[in-house]
Amino acid sequence: MDKIYIKDERLYSGMDKYLKPEYVYIQVENNDSYNIGDYIYKNDINFCSPVSGYVVGYDYKFINSTTKSRVIVIENDYKEKHKINKYVFNKEKLFDTLIANNLLDIYDEYDIKYLIINAIDFEPFVFSKRFYIEKDTSEILMIIDNIMDKMNIDKAVLAVVNDSKYDNLFNYIGTYPNIKIVKVNNYYPVSNNKTLLKELFGISYHKSSLEKKIWILDLLSLMDVNSIIKNNRISNEKIITIGGKGITNTVIVVKIGTSLKEIIKYLGGYRMNDISITIGGPLSGRQISSDDIVITRDIAAIFITKEQTVKEKECISCGKCNSVCPIHLVPVFIMKNINNISNLKKLGTEKCTECGLCSYICPSYINLKDYIIKAKEMIADE
Ligand code: SF4
Ligand code: SF4
Repeated sequence: MDKIYIKDERLYSGMDKYLKPEYVYIQVENNDSYNIGDYIYKNDINFCSPVSGYVVGYDYKFINSTTKSRVIVIENDYKEKHKINKYVFNKEKLFDTLIANNLLDIYDEYDIKYLIINAIDFEPFVFSKRFYIEKDTSEILMIIDNIMDKMNIDKAVLAVVNDSKYDNLFNYIGTYPNIKIVKVNNYYPVSNNKTLLKELFGISYHKSSLEKKIWILDLLSLMDVNSIIKNNRISNEKIITIGGKGITNTVIVVKIGTSLKEIIKYLGGYRMNDISITIGGPLSGRQISSDDIVITRDIAAIFITKEQTVKEKECISCGKCNSVCPIHLVPVFIMKNINNISNLKKLGTEKCTECGLCSYICPSYINLKDYIIKAKEMIADE
């Protein structure tokens, strides 16, 4: 496989915060019955409300890149009022809440031996994890130590890329003998959990029983796990990278449920007309047609660039897309078999991680990733 190495393009000056949105938008079922004027405490509505305030209406917003969903609109009263709800730590409940929030797979008897913190940003130009480490180094190590203690985990690895920017960690690590910092090669997509495990343990780990004893946790989910340990609920803040030529670039902490429009306004508005918005990184992200979107737990980055109309050309059979695929798929064959589900399955289409390298490298500007996403949807709908 040809590897795409990442240059350190430092575009961001520091970590910003926007934690006082005027309104928040929470996805609700059609039959949810909150009335206009109802008072909502912080963490009400299935623990989801990130602020306290009054219901001012219902609306439809993009909750992900493709569909609009019904949301309840809460006007922030900036009082952060919440009901006193004392939680006494309970290990079984902790595991249940982690599993319910997709932070942990189901393990036999919860026999986790190693915790791996994936502290590698998922794409070039995304710096959320790096900034979090720089800002809260000592707190991050404390949280990892606390998780290990509460879940009886023997050892933890904090995986970062081989870059001197992370050397600060070594100043704090002395008091945590069971946490090891491991630097790995900086290529894309080394942050993919499977690729990272191969870097850390070599290919053979798949064949061993080791895999079952490993819990890989994304660095940005540490805040959630910490909040679950303390209160039995996930955090309602999120660190996201906002980048691209169309906006002031920043890494920013926001409340889940804040509208992208409000964040853009806070950042001084768009820097150009005719913008294109991508949710996710420049390689693996998906373009959306509107900025009427709400920040959810799944959004890690937003890129705003000039709208481009690149014309796809004919495939020249150069094979470059095949040579970069980190999981050894043959993207050009998937594209050419787009209407043949049986062949799509044989080609291992479902294994695609949507990293976007095949589209990035294609000299004919063919958006192979979009073909493969469509192929995966067709297989799923079959
Ligand atoms: S998007 Fe899918 S097919 Fe394309 S390089 Fe990445 S993993 Fe391979
Ligand atoms: S990289 Fe583009 S042009 Fe080359 S084989 Fe793949 S699809 Fe065809």
